[in-house]
Amino acid sequence: MTTADGTRSRHAVVVGAGLAGTTAALQFADAGLDVTLVEGRPRLGGLAFSFRRGDLDIDNGQHVYLRCCTAYRWFLDRVDGAALAPLQDRLDVPVLDVGTPGGPRLGRIRRNGLPVPLHLAAGLAAYPHLSLAERASVGRAALALKRLDPADPALDGIDFGTWLGRHGQSARTIEALWDLVGVATLNATAPNASLGLAAMVFKTGLLSEPGAADIGWAHVPLGELHDTLARKALDSAGVRTQLRTRVHSVTRAEHGGWHVEVDGERLDADAVVLAVPQREAHALLPEGALDDPDRLLDIGTAPILNIHVVYDRKVLRRPFFAALGSPVQWVFDRTAASGLQEGQYLALSQSAAEDEIDTPVSALRTRYLPELERLLPATRGAEVRDFFVTRERTATFAPTPGVGRLRPGARTRAPGLYLAGAWTATGWPATMESAVRSGFSAAGAALAELGARHAHPLEEAA
Ligand SMILES: Cc1cc2nc3c(=O)[nH]c(=O)nc-3n(C[C@H](O)[C@H](O)[C@H](O)COP(=O)(O)OP(=O)(O)OC[C@H]3O[C@@H](n4cnc5c(N)ncnc54)[C@H](O)[C@@H]3O)c2cc1C
Repeated sequence: MTTADGTRSRHAVVVGAGLAGTTAALQFADAGLDVTLVEGRPRLGGLAFSFRRGDLDIDNGQHVYLRCCTAYRWFLDRVDGAALAPLQDRLDVPVLDVGTPGGPRLGRIRRNGLPVPLHLAAGLAAYPHLSLAERASVGRAALALKRLDPADPALDGIDFGTWLGRHGQSARTIEALWDLVGVATLNATAPNASLGLAAMVFKTGLLSEPGAADIGWAHVPLGELHDTLARKALDSAGVRTQLRTRVHSVTRAEHGGWHVEVDGERLDADAVVLAVPQREAHALLPEGALDDPDRLLDIGTAPILNIHVVYDRKVLRRPFFAALGSPVQWVFDRTAASGLQEGQYLALSQSAAEDEIDTPVSALRTRYLPELERLLPATRGAEVRDFFVTRERTATFAPTPGVGRLRPGARTRAPGLYLAGAWTATGWPATMESAVRSGFSAAGAALAELGARHAHPLEEAA
């Protein structure tokens, strides 16, 4: 393609249209490049998508984000979707404990309007699921955590469970607080999580700014944000999007640049971003692009299971809650978002689901329906109209101690070839935030190398 002044415009090919690839494509287009986005599946959105089941729109898994997720919030704004995935005014997480005698007991993790760390102090002081001594010990550990530098490579090799133990945290404080938040955000229990990643989550989320941990989630199907609206934004930015098209190889062109072999066609590119999962990136990387490409294969994956239950009536008044003393983790009301007209549809989000990811639906039903009856008495007389599960075996990279040194940055040793994806070295666990940040990094590095004018979107906004 040539520009108005007769020079050839540069062509970027982005492989993979999850949040990372979509972000990189938008960044390239906004910087004036000619962009092709190639995606193997028939839709955009990668791991965060929706599908139809009868009359309902179902998300493959409940997704939430926090106010501190500035990159994902940029994405929502960029696709004109922020109003469809609003944030709470103030952090408020209902926590129902069914593990103690006397039936479900409700507590809340919430903040007030005071500065850090006082914003959480009153909420913690009133949190009924911990004793007074446990609440005081949590406060001390939080202050110790605030002093950690998540980017310190030494923290990456330590597991969060050991650190919590060293800082006086009992099994109960871990269950009722640290893992309650950590399992959902890291997709691992404390002993299986890198201290560096845990420090990143807790420090940024709870101890950076008063509103940092306010929770947001899509009030529409995820596909409306990550597929429909994203497609609209890509189209109007001039990105050529090729769905149902797999990239088979990426090879150096003789006179510089790259050849990208897609189904039945060859694309020529000045810059290529591989925004695909680590295994696919390993398969596509040309020889010599990374010092030790096999390290990518050492980055493990972790599953998330979602259990979907449609009742014939309303059984839950709140938009969501977290559970204690039960295998149930987090429960969300997806009724309105799914389009259900009558009754109520709950989605149970079960992270770090290694033990149950292959459990048959019938066994999950036998296990979880009685648990919901313990947590939500209104379900006891209700009819279950539908019960099904969605299983994401490779939902995230496993945030195990030591994973930090395996995650590559955006730049490879091959000029013009970049990596993106939630699994790359963003400092964040595998989240939508990490994916968008990785898209910024890859496009930013490519544009700098091409000498194109470009400002980092978050710095621009600052
Ligand atoms: C059930 C579940 C719940 C989650 N909950 C949360 C949450 O609450 N909050 C949060 O922030 N994050 C959550 N996550 C994580 C979040 O969804 C991911 O971190 C993020 O979406 C990853 O985006 P990505 O672009 O890096 O990768 P992906 O979404 O994996 O995108 C990669 C894309 O590349 C495509 N591709 C692969 N190979 C090729 C090829 N050869 N040619 C063309 N295309 C190819 C794939 O089809 C895919 O679309 C959850 C994930 C799951 C699965």
